[in-house]
Amino acid sequence: MEPATETRLADVPAQEMYDLVAALYPICRSITGEGVRETLRTIGEHIDLDVHEVPSGTQVFDWRVPREWNIEDAYVANLRGERVIDFRANNLHVLNYSIPVRRRVSRDELLEHLFSLPDRPNWTPYRTSYYEENWGFCLPHEQLLELRDDSYDVCIDSSLVDGNLTYAECHLPGASDDEILVYAHVCHPSLANDNLSGVAVAAFLAQEIATWPRRYSYRFLFAPGTIGSTTWLATNEQSATRIKHGLVLAGVGDPGPSTYKRSRVGDAEIDRAVIHVLRHSGGRHEVREFSPLGYDERQFCSPGFNLPVGCLMRTPYGEYPEYHTSADDLKLVRPESLADSFAKCVAVLRLIERNLTYVNLNPKCEPQLGRRGLYAGIGGTSDGRELERAFLWILNLSDGGHSLLDIAERSELPFDLVHKAASELVDASLLHEIER
Ligand code: ZN
Repeated sequence: MEPATETRLADVPAQEMYDLVAALYPICRSITGEGVRETLRTIGEHIDLDVHEVPSGTQVFDWRVPREWNIEDAYVANLRGERVIDFRANNLHVLNYSIPVRRRVSRDELLEHLFSLPDRPNWTPYRTSYYEENWGFCLPHEQLLELRDDSYDVCIDSSLVDGNLTYAECHLPGASDDEILVYAHVCHPSLANDNLSGVAVAAFLAQEIATWPRRYSYRFLFAPGTIGSTTWLATNEQSATRIKHGLVLAGVGDPGPSTYKRSRVGDAEIDRAVIHVLRHSGGRHEVREFSPLGYDERQFCSPGFNLPVGCLMRTPYGEYPEYHTSADDLKLVRPESLADSFAKCVAVLRLIERNLTYVNLNPKCEPQLGRRGLYAGIGGTSDGRELERAFLWILNLSDGGHSLLDIAERSELPFDLVHKAASELVDASLLHEIER
């Protein structure tokens, strides 16, 4: 069983993904609260989502689900009543998870609660204080330098009360209960590449895969970073054992080359599938070893789970200047980069769906291909020679111990060609699929 149609780049919903990023961009998200719910409702306009609410205080391994944070408004005003920092202009201006505050403060006290980037004086940084009660504002450094009054009125109209952590999943059942996981974090406010790009690619990937005949079941998770994956793993420990391959998608919309971070396992099928697709994509790319730093793969790859979950990015987090600042905006994300990331994900998942293992039914010396019409389309063309090479590699290595990906790697032929050749050998009754 395999996906019926080849996905060509022309079919990639580049503009639709970009439009979803743009629609989600203004929402003030955090690890909990209405911003996450509104985000999930918007994603739910494209795919079927099951939304889950996990109450504050729920023990999730070594953590507790925090109180729910919501915010209506926030500003710093001078004593003439003019807003000099305004949450309504950009939600990055408030320290995410700020406790409510409403009072007059001296300039010195205010400065202790302000965050800016002196080396990028016209960008606003993104800062959070999830697990330590604090309040604060983030602003361009050049704007901070203009705050010369003796005192200011500070207002943060937020609430931090018992509520829920919200996440959503799109489950697509396949022939097998074995699952492929795709994870995107949904906790950042107005930041486009980190991670509305990942959200958009994951959502449209789910929409695409919903149309496939599926060997695997799929689980797309849209949840806050760290606490979201921890909560899911703690409340779905049994389901987690079904995950056979997984990808975290983060920062997949910037113009940089694709970067893949291997799972903790290192040479799992997902690692090898992504690396094969990147190598045969013809574009610049980078492969990095696993490290316990990064996105939600940290939780899936913690030693108590050690699931084969890698992370696909473009420029890695922290390595582009716009990262976690107001400059990670709708100009940083490009439809063509989203499209390229999407196409690579589709290629990876199609590969895994079709990575079957066969036995050669004529293993004693080479079978006569010409007699079976397998030379018919070959002639002297280079395509024909490649196909012939694929036939010979498949027939030689199909001893039940090598998958088509093993054969593609060993022969350095593209997986799609190896798969096409295998299908012809099956049709000619020279190969037989086996369970592995
Ligand atoms: Zn981030």
